[in-house]
Amino acid sequence: MQPRTPRYRPTDVVDFIVVGSGAAGGIVARELSRAGLRVVVLEQGPYRRASDFLPHDDYNVFIRNALTNDSAQQGTTFRSTEQDEAKPGNPVWYARGVGGGSVHFTGNFWRLHPEDFRERTLNGDVPGAALADWPITYDDLEPYYTRVDWEIGVSGQAGADPREPRRSRPYPMPPLPVKPEGLLMEKAARKMGWTAFPAPMAIASQPFRGRAPCQACGYCLGFGCEFDAKSSTLVAMIPDAERTGRCEIRSESYVRKVETDARGRVTGVIYFDRERREVFQRARAVVVCANGAETPRLLLNSASARFPQGLANSSGLVGRHLMYNGNVVAGGVFEHETNGYKGPVVTRVVQDPYVLDPKLGLVGGGGFDFRFDSPPLLYAIRGQGTAMPQWGAGFKRALRDFPKTVYAYGHTTSLPVPTNSVSLDPTHKDAWGVPSMRITYREHPNDMKVYRWFLDRCGDLLDAAGALRRWEDPINDAPQGSPHLLGTCRMGNDPATSVVNAGHRAHDVPNLFIVDGSSMVTGGRGQPTMTIMALAFRASEGMVRWAKRAG
Ligand SMILES: Cc1cc2nc3c(=O)[nH]c(=O)nc-3n(C[C@H](O)[C@H](O)[C@H](O)COP(=O)(O)OP(=O)(O)OC[C@H]3O[C@@H](n4cnc5c(N)ncnc54)[C@H](O)[C@@H]3O)c2cc1C
Repeated sequence: MQPRTPRYRPTDVVDFIVVGSGAAGGIVARELSRAGLRVVVLEQGPYRRASDFLPHDDYNVFIRNALTNDSAQQGTTFRSTEQDEAKPGNPVWYARGVGGGSVHFTGNFWRLHPEDFRERTLNGDVPGAALADWPITYDDLEPYYTRVDWEIGVSGQAGADPREPRRSRPYPMPPLPVKPEGLLMEKAARKMGWTAFPAPMAIASQPFRGRAPCQACGYCLGFGCEFDAKSSTLVAMIPDAERTGRCEIRSESYVRKVETDARGRVTGVIYFDRERREVFQRARAVVVCANGAETPRLLLNSASARFPQGLANSSGLVGRHLMYNGNVVAGGVFEHETNGYKGPVVTRVVQDPYVLDPKLGLVGGGGFDFRFDSPPLLYAIRGQGTAMPQWGAGFKRALRDFPKTVYAYGHTTSLPVPTNSVSLDPTHKDAWGVPSMRITYREHPNDMKVYRWFLDRCGDLLDAAGALRRWEDPINDAPQGSPHLLGTCRMGNDPATSVVNAGHRAHDVPNLFIVDGSSMVTGGRGQPTMTIMALAFRASEGMVRWAKRAG
């Protein structure tokens, strides 16, 4: 029999409050509650079920932000440098709802490589960047990557990537069937002396733990999956957490402040319920899993007489080192129909330049995929880049190219720059009257050169695949709508240069933990969510030990 989901009272001192139920928060909630601890998850967005993801509506999803943050409500301002005036905008893109970004993401699931944990040792000091080594290694994280594969559900083919880092187990599912643009990528990679291998994807390729496999509906990036084939925490973790009878998922609960007492210990959080009433929920400890943008904003909004710079911020680093991952795109039209809109977005990946040839004098590297990620409406708006005609014969011709269009994506490093940050806007407030997040972001000159190199190779790949005609999206040094939000509460051993320790506990506050994209010290080469989830499994083990020790 299904245990009843508990309903804790705000005056109950639960063991843990988890703020945010996304890629990290969903795992933390499941792991803590399975270990016997009493957990309240506070999630600002709604609790959707599979049937809520129908009908597929591009307009609702991409234009009206049905599943995602909306700057008009949430309040976000942007400036490129600290000298500029910040203006309202939508620089970050994340999902609001139980399961967070894992519900609507594309499902590309790349592990980091051993080099990613040692960027400072390998590259030395890079002026303008604060490169640091992680306090953990790839080998420390490997068992948890494997747990993500097997407990969240990743499809792929072990041994197919010539650069693949060590793995202790194969994938639990074979790769998704290759699509025509994947076959084109195999041909192009061969011509360039590279290897296109089956993409590791957080999408079930066969029945998995009671979930249906991918039905190739084509509405993947940006959409929730009505078949539960996408391996979100909404389907892979939250039901387990609720089955314990100890975990309450309280949706539409927007946390505005983490409260502390005179000793500097966390006592609970203040949140707005769905009627916008303020509630104070008590807890022995708090885990903030609100993502790389909202987590630092919440900590800065939790300033008090004891913590005037914001919570956990004695280093002054909360919100700093924001990393987006580089993302460059070229598109091409082919002679024959590839019908890329059918099926998952990506089926083949190249990672040969994961570490760029030192002769180029650049720090970083990355990988590529061939994909089609534009449902019809989006394609009509920007399917052939910014130069696409929006009217007349040119527009009609572009529409006819819909089934023959393929995009080459380059995914790369972005360096941790101290001035790239999340801070509080001094005047702007969100719809609840809480200070808005202000994003300051300008790409490091090294990264701009890396992006150029990758965009040129995207063009080469499309040419090698036989594109009849191609274009490239411009490289912007102040990108908007970024979906990867990393590095803003970095982990480290030294409290002067990091926000949390290797166990994700805040250096300054003994019963505050931070686990999400903000913990990452460097950003890898894109597709960070596999790592965020592995960190969440690892951190949860430590939090359970801590909670049992603390009694
Ligand atoms: C369109 C799109 C496609 C993507 N595709 C990929 C991909 O293919 N591969 C990949 O690796 N990554 C992808 N990503 C990125 C991925 O979604 C994120 O890396 C991942 O979800 C981050 O996990 P997280 O736990 O840090 O935060 P999230 O998953 O964002 O979870 C944070 C949760 O906290 C909630 N929250 C925030 N503030 C508060 C508050 N104050 N009170 C209560 N709740 C709060 C949010 O509503 C959210 O549900 C994609 C992102 C987008 C937008």
